[in-house]
Amino acid sequence: MEKNVIEQVFGTDVFNDDVMRAKLPKDTYKSWKKTLESGEDLHIEIANVVAHAMKEWALDHGATHYTHWFQPMTGVTAEKHDSFLSPASESKPVLEFSGKELIKGEPDASSFPSGGLRATFEARGYTAWDCTSPAFLREDAAGVTLCIPTAFCSYTGEALDKKTPLLRSMEAISKQAVRIMKLFGYNDVKKISCSVGPEQEYFLIDRDKYLQRKDLIFTGRTLFGAPAPKGQELDDHYFGSIKERIASFMKDLNTELWKLGILSKTQHNEVAPAQHEMAPIFTTANISTDHNQLTMEIMRKVAKRHNLECLLHEKPFAGVNGSGKHNNWSIITDTGINLLDPGKKPHENTLFLLFLASIIKAVDKHADLLRLSASSPGNDHRLGANEAPPAIISIFLGEQLEDIIEQIIRGDVSSSIQGSKLDTGVHVLPVLKKDATDRNRTSPFAFTGNKFEFRSLGSSMSIAGANFILNTIVADSLQDFADELEKADDFNNAVKKLIKDTVTEHQRIIFNGDGYSNEWIEEAKRRGLPNIKSMVEAIPCLVSKKSINVFERQNVLTKVELESRAEINYEAYSKTINIEAKTMIDMAGKQYIPSIIKYLTSLAESINNIKSASPSADVSVQTDLLNNCSSLLASAKKALINLEKVTAEAALKPEGQERATFFKDVVFTAMSELRAPIDELEMSVDQNFWPVPTYGDLLFEV
Ligand code: ADP
Ligand code: MG
Repeated sequence: MEKNVIEQVFGTDVFNDDVMRAKLPKDTYKSWKKTLESGEDLHIEIANVVAHAMKEWALDHGATHYTHWFQPMTGVTAEKHDSFLSPASESKPVLEFSGKELIKGEPDASSFPSGGLRATFEARGYTAWDCTSPAFLREDAAGVTLCIPTAFCSYTGEALDKKTPLLRSMEAISKQAVRIMKLFGYNDVKKISCSVGPEQEYFLIDRDKYLQRKDLIFTGRTLFGAPAPKGQELDDHYFGSIKERIASFMKDLNTELWKLGILSKTQHNEVAPAQHEMAPIFTTANISTDHNQLTMEIMRKVAKRHNLECLLHEKPFAGVNGSGKHNNWSIITDTGINLLDPGKKPHENTLFLLFLASIIKAVDKHADLLRLSASSPGNDHRLGANEAPPAIISIFLGEQLEDIIEQIIRGDVSSSIQGSKLDTGVHVLPVLKKDATDRNRTSPFAFTGNKFEFRSLGSSMSIAGANFILNTIVADSLQDFADELEKADDFNNAVKKLIKDTVTEHQRIIFNGDGYSNEWIEEAKRRGLPNIKSMVEAIPCLVSKKSINVFERQNVLTKVELESRAEINYEAYSKTINIEAKTMIDMAGKQYIPSIIKYLTSLAESINNIKSASPSADVSVQTDLLNNCSSLLASAKKALINLEKVTAEAALKPEGQERATFFKDVVFTAMSELRAPIDELEMSVDQNFWPVPTYGDLLFEV
């Protein structure tokens, strides 16, 4: 029987464990595995042998080049290709790849954002192999390239990327969690890893129409556009049957992802028209991060093959839902225990309750950092806008755990609410067991059975940021716990007291109600929870004393690295809004206003013609239209002049916080003032004169 496509293609483009076992000499393979497990430095002799096997495998698959693949602070991945051709070769080509080339690269990296960490005269940057994430092959018009996942640092060792702090944070949480496991007698646990499953939302639109919209091309979102007569009000797209063209995109996407060993699992239509979602099966945080970056890249590439464009922006269209990314996170020991699995009787599961308490404490103490980790210019349109979680960070535990927390605080823990049977009232249906807890879609940080789901991330963001912050703050709570418990005389009592004290102190972060309601905003204020409304307002927390302390204590980022990241964030925000403003200026000046003038001229000519043909004819409709549209046109022109003025002013503001704040408060407002009259005109101007495809064309004609 022929193999199923998944069996045929899965992992074929990955230099994974199976390939290594087959290709490496037994001894090398063993030492290699030992290095991985112990987390020790890799010996150059082993690296040489691995590099040789990797090269042979890549050549067998047609590779001509290799690249260190890294994730600078731009949010997208970067690569510089080298062919395997050795400099020694003269007449006959010699193809080489050494251990040194595998483990270390040196891209001239002065043009990547460094937030002042590195001046151009000290341009050296190094890429270092992240040997815990497998190398893979990429095939495109450039041929086949061997891609080596790496971390990217400066000459003096400062992190210049998203990967380095993630790897550091994984070590930090592992170290502290192992201390806790020892206290509970689990001496066999040597390592703990964070598992992440990111659910990825995206839009697909027709590429020909996309190419007619400069806003989509330059900024990834529509900067103008009146709502279509139909939006998402009928809820008929969500989980609806998938159109043929989209289905064939999904089929191709899955095949490409499976080849790379990406565990693509679910696919469905999302709430907004033209919106969809894919989710992989969870895996270790750094691999999951690499896979998510690849997934986004491949989505874009495969879409083009179907003459579609994949939009990953958080808010491509006003008036319908934007796209997010749910970050499902758990911590699992190397012996296979999921520390977030409450078991049947969570109230008796002290180990689980202690880890839960550590998370409650971490999220309450560092809600501002988590908020920051979900901040991007695009996500500013979503958080708090009743389509994504509110900007206020809180934890949803569900009925069962909340009840246990209340018992703990009262001081008599004796029971766990159990899931009951679901009665559908129909006898032919099977009897279903209900979960002990319902879902809550409005919570930013929700417990969902055996993992937490951080729901605030934007669709285009790297998941590295959220996960390194999450790992770091939880590691810090665990360190406090381990310090205290290691010196306790009576462990059992000490741990119970610690759980009780912690959840009592941090209870305010738990909220099981409707996160979209106005009452919650008031309630959160009473509880003293931060409500940080925008990215620009979130950035300062990166360099607060509290944050510097936790990142330095966990060896994840230094003060200098944090300061550089704050700068990079301000700059990214300012540049994004600047591009949006300039695109609006361009479209309004060169497309909308000229088209509207053409339409008005034709109206005026029509009025004159009718009047001269029949002086008594009623031309009031045309005249009203002419007057209304002319006055909207005048407003548009005025708003355009203002936008040009404030965008020029923004460039003169000092870089950093001040400029970013000006873009948010002044330029962004001026953009809305230009959009309003143009969108209104779109509703009355003859569609034959309208210069770009409308929301209706973009969202419904796929
Ligand atoms: P839901 O529909 O409940 O959000 P799914 O079970 O479909 O949940 O999972 C959503 C994502 O969560 C998937 O990527 C899945 O692999 C991931 N996931 C499931 N269990 C875990 C876990 N223990 N740790 C991390 N991620 C997980
Ligand atoms: Mg989910």
